[in-house]
This record gives sequence, structure tokens and C-alpha cells, in this order.
Amino acid sequence: MDVKSPYLHPEYETLSREEINKLQTERLQETIKRCAKVPFYAQKFKEMGIKAEDIKTPEDVRKLPFTTKQDLRDTYPFGLAAVPLTDCVRLHSSSGTTGNPTVILHTKNDLDEWANQVARNLWMVGLRPDDVFQNSSGYGMFTGGLGFQYGAEKLGMLTVPAAAGNSLRQIKFIKDFGTTAIHAVPSYLTRLYEVMQEQGVDPRKDTKLKTFAIGAEPHSEEQRKRIENMFGVKAYNSFGMSEMCGPGVGFECQEQNGLHFWEDYYIVEIVDPETLEPVPDGEIGELVLTTLRREAMPLIRYRTRDLTRVLGRTCPCGRNHVRLDRMKGRSDDMMVLRGVNIFPIQIEKILMTFPELASNYLITLTTDDDNDNMTVEVELAEMFTDDYARLQSLTKNVCRALKDEILLTPIVKLVPKGSLPVSEGKAVRVVDKRKVYQ
Ligand code: AMP
Ligand code: ZN
Repeated sequence: MDVKSPYLHPEYETLSREEINKLQTERLQETIKRCAKVPFYAQKFKEMGIKAEDIKTPEDVRKLPFTTKQDLRDTYPFGLAAVPLTDCVRLHSSSGTTGNPTVILHTKNDLDEWANQVARNLWMVGLRPDDVFQNSSGYGMFTGGLGFQYGAEKLGMLTVPAAAGNSLRQIKFIKDFGTTAIHAVPSYLTRLYEVMQEQGVDPRKDTKLKTFAIGAEPHSEEQRKRIENMFGVKAYNSFGMSEMCGPGVGFECQEQNGLHFWEDYYIVEIVDPETLEPVPDGEIGELVLTTLRREAMPLIRYRTRDLTRVLGRTCPCGRNHVRLDRMKGRSDDMMVLRGVNIFPIQIEKILMTFPELASNYLITLTTDDDNDNMTVEVELAEMFTDDYARLQSLTKNVCRALKDEILLTPIVKLVPKGSLPVSEGKAVRVVDKRKVYQ
């Protein structure tokens, strides 16, 4: 490890486009061979007449079938394993709100490569073995726990597996252990700041914090800036999903100009979710990922449901791995209210522009007298609930700004700080109580 190098894996991070293409072609062929051992894929390859030798460029991935979450459910628990179970050392499972949950298997090599990806990301944003890394996200089945744990250890940092919640203890650890970096979901960091304020802790003066990795849930650029300004700390967007391994799939570099998705590990496609045809760079579509290194459960053209776009394929940081925009949300997060499509992130973006508002908000959809309505409750940054005139004018301004963005007039309720629910894991931003008409 050359601590002065900006790259942890220069041999992969600084590949030219031509080199990436060559590597991806070889690795895609290997992936197809591995998948041929899975009856689910073997059957599809046979029907479509596909062999590994048919892959001549990474674009040939388009000849291959898609994989969906439903396929994972249908083959639950081990139907997509490409190796005997005796070669697997861990599984992660996501809870299924409908039907079966999903299972992702890992071999020892898979875990090792996953840790490499996370370590690479943390190195990219300037962390080195002398840093102290506190992981304030849930452990257990949620991959943000063990994923960051192994990656941070691989980099060689002193790690603090604080897990989620218990803000007073988190703050004590940050101060006592000299924590310099934290990984957490963004909604939790805003809560942590509020508790620091209540405790009279100034993160700039009383801590050594300098770097945050924030992710696992959609958040706006405005939310990121807010977090950075609160703590005086740089916050980098971290994208991951259990199906690909967990965190580590995509991460911002110090330029903060989009997420580098690691093309030595994945083939990245952005497709139109209706036609499934590729969309041009710059246009929003569904992110589709093909694993290139995974042994236990390789996935081909996995439809993530996340919506994003390609921002570029070069970067001043020297990495040519594709840069994707922050996720706009998942296609399943989209609310359709009176025929208008709305993403929660659009609401967040507007709320964050009002300094009088805190960061916690909740969108509730209801049916009242046969009309569908949206209520946006948002916490106030300070207490002025008894200043009625000020409250009324602020409510009006927030309502107007939201209407300009979403083209519908929501009901806006400004509520005292700390009165909305805070979840320890991913934030719940939308509650849909509408009547469903058949
Ligand atoms: P899970 O694997 O169940 O923890 O969830 C993966 C999903 O979390 C992704 O498909 C995204 O919808 C969401 N996600 C993860 N990281 C981010 C991020 N940085 N920005 C927005 N959404 C994210
Ligand atoms: Zn970069």
C-alpha cells in the first residue's frame, strides 16, 4: 500500500476505455460459463442459442436475458446458486414485503472482492490506515453493516462497529475514539447532528470528523450539502445493493461529480424501463447491472428498478469508470397522484432549500371525499410554533415552492422538531393510505 497514491488499485482504477472493454469481454465470457451451471440461466441460454464465445464486446451483453427480483423470489432460496452450497460462506437475505424474501450467496472470494470494492472507495475519498472509521449503520442482514466493516478493515483503519441508533453512545465514541470517518444513512446523520446540538457538542471543534459515506437510500444534492454544512465534513454518495454484493458498487470520488460504477466488477447499462432498449448517455432510465466477478450467484442484466443517467466516462480524478447521476429514486417509489408522477426526492429537494426547516419529513397520501391528497409534514429547524404569522407565511411559501416543482398543491404542515418518526435504517418517507378502487 502506497499511502501517497490516490488509487488503491491503480491497475484497475486507471484503465483506459479500451482496456475496460477488453477486461469486461473476458470477464463476461467467464460469467456466462459460470451461469451455464445454473438451470435457470442454462435454459435461457439454450432457448436463445447463446454461448460464451458469442461475446466479442461488452455491448454483446444485450444478447443476454434480463434477470428480475421476481426471478430471485421464484428460485428462493438457492435456485440461482452457481456453486455447491458447501463453497458458500455467507448469505444475505432481504425481507420480502410480498411473497418470498430474496437470498444472495457469497463464496470466500466474493466476500474478499466485496471488501476490495469498499476499501477502494474509502481510499478514493482520502481515507488511509491511520483513520478511525465508525460504521453507524445496521448490521446483520443489512449489507451496509458487514460490507463496510470488512472493507474498512481491509483498508487497515481502526474500525468502530457502532451499528445504528443510540446517538448519545455514537457521540461518545466519536469523541473518545477520535473517529475521523462515518458511514450512515443520510437521514440518520441529520438526526445525529440534532442530538449533538442538544448536547452542546460542536462537531467542528469537539470532534476529528472529516469524511462521511452516505447512501443506501435516495437523497438530494441539497440534503448532502446540508449535512456537509452542519458538520463541516465532506459527504460522499455511496451506492450499493444486496443483489450485487452490498455497498461498494458505486461511489463518488473527491470531485463529487457523480458515482463511479466499477466497470471491472459490473457491466452498467441504462435502459428505457418500458422498451428495455438502451437510452443515450444523459437520459434517465433504469439501471441494469451484470456481475463480472461474482462466483456464488452471478447475475446477468439485473433490473435494479433504480432510475439514473450516465454523466460521463472520464473524470479529472483519472478514473474512466462510468459516472452515474445520483439515483432519482426507484421506479416503485414513484407516486402517481391525480395522474401526475412524483418522486419523493423532488419534495426533499425543495424542502431542503428552506433554512427554517429541519431535515425530517413525511409524505402521506390519503383519499378525502373521493379526492386524492398529499400532505407533507416537515419538522421546523427551530421552535417558533407560537409565532402564528411567521408560521403561516412560511407554510404558504413552502406550499408554493412545492407546487412549482410537482405541479400539484399539497397540504403542508410544519411540525416541531423531533415530532416525526425516525427509523434506524432506511428512512420511510411515504405513507400511502389512499383507497384503492377496483
Ligand atoms: P438493499 O440492497 O436492500 O439494501 O437496497 C438497495 C437499494 O437501495 C438500491 O437498489 C437503491 O434503491 C437504494 N440505494 C442504495 N444506495 C443508494 C444511494 N446512494 N442513493 C439512492 N438509493 C440508494
Ligand atoms: Zn472521479
